[in-house]
Amino acid sequence: IVHWPFTAAQRRKLNWVQLAGHKGNFKAADEGNILKKFSENEMQCFEKLRDDVLFPFVPGYHGVVEKDGESFLHMTDLLANFDLPNVMDCKMGVRTYLEEELVRARERPKPREDLYKKMVEVDSEGPTPEEHSQRGVTKPRYMQWRETMSSTNTLGFRIEGIKKCDGTCRTDFKKTRSKQDVIQVFTDFVEGNVSIIKSYLSRLTEIQQALKMSAFFKQHEVIGSSLLFIHDHTGNAQVWMIDFGKTTVLPDGQTLNHGIPWQEGNREDGYLWGLDNLIHTLESVSSE
Ligand code: ATP
Ligand code: MG
Ligand code: MG
Repeated sequence: IVHWPFTAAQRRKLNWVQLAGHKGNFKAADEGNILKKFSENEMQCFEKLRDDVLFPFVPGYHGVVEKDGESFLHMTDLLANFDLPNVMDCKMGVRTYLEEELVRARERPKPREDLYKKMVEVDSEGPTPEEHSQRGVTKPRYMQWRETMSSTNTLGFRIEGIKKCDGTCRTDFKKTRSKQDVIQVFTDFVEGNVSIIKSYLSRLTEIQQALKMSAFFKQHEVIGSSLLFIHDHTGNAQVWMIDFGKTTVLPDGQTLNHGIPWQEGNREDGYLWGLDNLIHTLESVSSE
């Protein structure tokens, strides 16, 4: 327990929340900033994003720093300007693994008991009779099954987690799939406040416009990236693009459409299709 009065920095620390990823991946940094565990791939994305039209929609990036013998990406804490923020992580796209992960996993199809257990936890009828008897499922099978359970395949995005200003945190959205389910989750997230939804919608429309112009976006397969929704009781509401750990550059000259269906080999990620669905879903929330 930290006693009142809090300093601004204490208050921020208390309210910081990580809705995805391994708990050790983030560290506090100097005021208004955070550290994310280094990845070469994500660093390259942040460097390229400096000169792209998407720049206003991604966290400020301040280079690589060393701490306790480990490397980190130094970036702006998006929660810092909020007072008791409500936060939602929404993972974009029709799939959340790279094509190369699928190929690699298929080369060595090893039934895994940990993935079998995870599958049974969500749906005891998920595994086939054969998978039940061997008490194992392979990685690609697990990955593809997961995406059919959530709205990833059907809407091109899924809700990963939510933290509300009252401190409650939920990450159990693995079976949130239909548009109606998502409308319910968003309505609850904003507690019916339509003006917050309208602010989110105008920001999403700006992001959509920028994506259509972005050279970076054309040249990358954007997998596992999220939109982070943040609002507070003052009415401040923002959306940011985060997590470029699996955003992968295409071979020279190749570009993606981001709206057409994925077929293995075309590397399409369905990001723009998902964003379009997300915008329509929020429009339904604001008119209910
Ligand atoms: P995963 O790949 O499993 O999604 P990760 O380790 O790549 O996880 P991120 O997805 O980048 O991590 O971030 C995890 C969570 O940390 C986000 O859902 C969000 O809650 C928080 N977060 C990430 N970046 C920021 C930021 N710049 N400001 C505030 N919060 C952030
Ligand atoms: Mg993430
Ligand atoms: Mg990631």
